Amino acid sequence: MRRPLRALPFLALSLLALAPLGTAGADPTPEAPYALDTIPREVPKAGPLQCPKVELVDYAGDNLRFSSTTKVYIGLRDRLKAFEKIAADVATEIYGRPPSRVVHLGTYSCRRIAAYPEFLSEHALGNAIDIAGFDFGPLPKGQSLPEGIPAGFKNGFEVRVLSHWKAQTGHAAIHARFLKTLARRLIARKDVFRVLLGPGYAGHDNHFHFDMAPFRMVEIYDGGQPLVPPPASNSASTVNESTENP
Ligand SMILES: [Zn+2]
Repeated sequence: MRRPLRALPFLALSLLALAPLGTAGADPTPEAPYALDTIPREVPKAGPLQCPKVELVDYAGDNLRFSSTTKVYIGLRDRLKAFEKIAADVATEIYGRPPSRVVHLGTYSCRRIAAYPEFLSEHALGNAIDIAGFDFGPLPKGQSLPEGIPAGFKNGFEVRVLSHWKAQTGHAAIHARFLKTLARRLIARKDVFRVLLGPGYAGHDNHFHFDMAPFRMVEIYDGGQPLVPPPASNSASTVNESTENP
C-alpha cells in the first residue's frame, strides 16, 4: 500500500530553524543538537537554487566499502559509520559475513524536495544518503554459514531493496529478512538517522533514504504496516517510543 507524502514535518521546518530540536520538533524526543539544525531549509519554489555552503568531504565508507566515493556533509560521516557497523552486524548474523559493498544512489545534490519545492532536500546539504542495496562476496574460506541458510549463499550475491523487500519465498525471502532486520534496527537507533524512508513511501520502492533533517520521520512499510523497531533487548537501543510522526 502506498502512503501519501506527509506535510507536517516540512511545515515545522521554518520553526525548527530557530528552535532547538526537541522543543518544536515533529517528535518530542530529546535529542542531541546537530550542526545543520539551524540552517533554514525554506527556499523560493522556483528559479535558480542557492544551496547553503556546508563542509563537504569525500567519503567511500569506513566499516564497509561504498560502491563509489561520494560527497557528504562532514557531520554525517559518523552517522554513516554507525550505519555501516549495524549493516555489517546484521549481515554477519544472517549471511555469515558483512557485505563487500554498500550500493548507494547518491548523497550530495543541490536540489529541492520534488514534492515540496519550497524546501531544500537534505541532499542539498550532503546530509542524506540513498541506499539501493548491498553486494556480498563469497563466504571467506574456513567460515560457515549460519544455521538454516542454504549452501548457495556461500557464493557472492546481491541484495536490492527493489527486488527483495517484498519477497516471501526462496533465497529472496532471506534477503527480505536481512533488509527488514536492518531497517528495524536503524529505526530503533535514534542516534544514527532521524529520517528513514523506504518501501511503501512515495518514490522509495527502490531505496532507503536516510538523513539528519531537524525532525524525526520514519516511513518504511512492510505489507502496508509501518515497520517497527525490534522488541527491547539487552542492547543500548531505546525502542520504547513511537516511531510515527504526530
Ligand atoms: Zn534521498
